[in-house]
Amino acid sequence: MPVADLRSDELVVAGERRGARDGAMTTLVAPATGEPFAEVARAGPADVEVALTCAHAAFAEGQGAWPRTSATERGRVLARVSALLRERAEALAELEATGAGHPIGDARWEVEAAARTFEYYAGAANKHLGTTIPIMDPGLAITLREPVGVCALIVPWNFPLLIACWKVAPALACGNPIILKPASATPLTALALGDILVTAGVPAEAVHVLAGPGAVLGDLLVADPRVAKVGFTGETATGAHILRQSADTITRVSLELGGKSAAVVFADADIARAAAATTASVFANAGQDCCARSRILVERPAYDAFVAAFADATQAMVMGEPLDPATEVGPMISAGQRQTSLDYLALGAAEGTRLVCGGEVPDRPGFYLSPAVVAEVDNDMRIAREEIFGPVAAVIPFDDEADAIRIANDSDYGLSGSLWTGSAPRAIRVARRLRVGTLSVNSHSSVRVETPFGGMKRSGLGRELGLAAMDLYSETRTVFFSEE
Ligand code: NDP
Repeated sequence: MPVADLRSDELVVAGERRGARDGAMTTLVAPATGEPFAEVARAGPADVEVALTCAHAAFAEGQGAWPRTSATERGRVLARVSALLRERAEALAELEATGAGHPIGDARWEVEAAARTFEYYAGAANKHLGTTIPIMDPGLAITLREPVGVCALIVPWNFPLLIACWKVAPALACGNPIILKPASATPLTALALGDILVTAGVPAEAVHVLAGPGAVLGDLLVADPRVAKVGFTGETATGAHILRQSADTITRVSLELGGKSAAVVFADADIARAAAATTASVFANAGQDCCARSRILVERPAYDAFVAAFADATQAMVMGEPLDPATEVGPMISAGQRQTSLDYLALGAAEGTRLVCGGEVPDRPGFYLSPAVVAEVDNDMRIAREEIFGPVAAVIPFDDEADAIRIANDSDYGLSGSLWTGSAPRAIRVARRLRVGTLSVNSHSSVRVETPFGGMKRSGLGRELGLAAMDLYSETRTVFFSEE
């Protein structure tokens, strides 16, 4: 399917494409050129009201068409969503590459991962089982897994389609209507997903995709008593605001927030392999990745060798146009996001760090910044403590195992991490001490649809993906049957 057939400038309200009630539009800017490339309707309070009324009626206290659809049939519909994502994969990937600046190879991976997410929850829908519980009293107790109600799903711009699918797929698998709120900068693939859901057979009144400003739409959705569940991915400060907004209505909230993850490299590791793999774990998506291993802790005897190998591998990365298949590093999302990285590099220089390579703005249009390796970083420096969300890697030396664990855990965040060592006993010891939601040993991978994903400390609340997500989007009820 060509991109033109996927692109529309309208919202998805009750499964239909519609303009904003007040006719407002947002201009989208292509990260690779810095130029406007599309206009899209900007939802306001009137659009939120229509979506909320409709989604609430679609749930109907669990008696609506979708909650009452059998779990097996819901699974079939989700399998069709997966197939449609694959059918439209190339057009979706091009849309993501243009709108979010992802290198096309990464964008293709993202669409395939989105399809796999729906595939997984298609299979999970009718395996989300209740229990029978032995009790002392005469009779029987059972648990029921039921949909929670209207789900407001608020997502960021860094993986616009995939992160939406991580929430939409389990929410639908459990039988909930959804209102998806994509980031203002990158709404197009989320809107295209809305069309796909309806085509696949999700009832129209259960599908709403509202592009528009989070500061306006977010509060309207989160504080509304008709919303039963908020699934959010974004900045820690926004997550804290959402928690406060949801307090009065006791709305269920799950939060996937920021990170300052560490790759811990021991001298007994395969240093060349660790250095090569770490480029992907910190510079993929131009460092705009919540799981980016933006702190790289290296044992002193291997420090110089690692920094040299890592800088070589970083400089070998191909920066270029998102639609060029050779591109490994594309542009950042905006001039503002790039400036944040430049500000942190200046701050790091003032704090006494050494810029080994990168950190340059190339002479070309768009929001490019070459990946920066910064050495001689101390974990107390701001460059090591605050999430930058850009292509900046801070390399920090450590003395021994205890020092590595202390530094890695000395962070407000606890999302993910990597551990590189040639010693299995050390891998077990250290893995058990690192306070992060997801850790990869001798690997840079972070997220798999089959495994729970989420953060400790200020990185979030709750676990997405795997079967854990089915708990996020359902309520467990207990029913006791007396034999008397
Ligand atoms: P933001 O928190 O700024 O925005 C995320 C979403 O929230 C957007 O849709 C945004 O809308 C919306 N939003 C903004 N203000 C409010 C509000 N007051 N109430 C409700 N919603 C609101 O994050 P970014 O988009 O800048 O994304 C980057 C952040 O996301 C990073 O900190 C990163 O670590 C985190 N992230 C975490 C992941 C994880 O799984 N832990 C994965 C990916 C990213 P709008 O765009 O209109 O402002």
